[in-house]
Amino acid sequence: MTVASLARSGPQAEGSPAAALLAWYDRHRRRLPWRALPGETADPYRVWLSEIMLQQTTVKAVAPYFAAFLARWPSVEDLAASPVEEVMKAWAGLGYYSRARNLHACAIAVVERHGGRFPADLAGLRALPGVGDYTAAAIASIAFDIPAAVVDGNVERVVTRLEVIDAPLPGAKPAIRARVAALLDPARPGDFAQATMDLGATICTPKKPACALCPVRPFCAAAAAGTQEAYPVKAAKRGGVLRRGAAFVVRRADGALLVRTRPPKGLLGGMTEIPGTDWTAEGPGRDPAPPVALAFTRLPGMVSHVFTHFPLELTVFRAGAPQGLAAPDGYRWIAAAEIEGEAFPTVFRKVIAHALPT
Ligand code: SF4
Repeated sequence: MTVASLARSGPQAEGSPAAALLAWYDRHRRRLPWRALPGETADPYRVWLSEIMLQQTTVKAVAPYFAAFLARWPSVEDLAASPVEEVMKAWAGLGYYSRARNLHACAIAVVERHGGRFPADLAGLRALPGVGDYTAAAIASIAFDIPAAVVDGNVERVVTRLEVIDAPLPGAKPAIRARVAALLDPARPGDFAQATMDLGATICTPKKPACALCPVRPFCAAAAAGTQEAYPVKAAKRGGVLRRGAAFVVRRADGALLVRTRPPKGLLGGMTEIPGTDWTAEGPGRDPAPPVALAFTRLPGMVSHVFTHFPLELTVFRAGAPQGLAAPDGYRWIAAAEIEGEAFPTVFRKVIAHALPT
């Protein structure tokens, strides 16, 4: 941070969360190998390299790799000139190897398209291989002081607590980004981004945040309400109790399929289904009742499907029907040529594929 930028952050910001956060950051910032010291200008190459390495990996795990990469490839030109195999080898152990391939492709793109200088704008950064919205915003803000909203998991936690944002993640991401954009100090966007990340990593932790030490405690609605650990709200994970059922695939000699329409309300409401039992935790038992009296064969294997609130396993039975068989009440035949265009949800398409492989 420079004296000029301090002056710019100025008195109008006093008493704001950003001012409190930046004042704290000036005293307590984490010393990280890729981070510029106060008064230094951040090096885009270092910022980019660290941000790619830090995706899905901890600061502790990244530090030795960052040092090794920098020692071996001190500039983006050096990295671009290296065979990709060497980069992959040096990356080994960091995981997610597509990141290493993209890293190398990005270095080449920076050299070939931009003369070895990282583009100093969001769109230019976003167009580079392996650089998504988050990474582009982080580089823009930290390396070029562009007021971009940088939102990682730490920032999400801090902001949802600060402003008691009740909408669940991941749907709340645009709202969080908008709040970060409104909160940040346009005079020191890079420091603001890093300060928020540091606060989330060291004080506003997922469990037992150290609110007594927190610089934005006076502005924090969750701390005032004592509900810190309720944020961020996360959408219910896929999970729930496994349900089981049986499905009966009945095919007429001309290829027509016996189906019915599900009730208009509820799960898969109004869509077409293959006849079957209810889906329950107990399952259908050994001999579930079929919709028509035919000689059914129980097929080996199972159809698995995951709904938002529960996983499902279906046992599939199959029978051939004589041409003149009338559809029972509530059921209908659909011609073979109509199966493709029928409103089957995925789970029943899986059942059909299981019973009638093409
Ligand atoms: S006061 Fe507590 S909950 Fe609020 S931002 Fe600070 S550490 Fe997080």
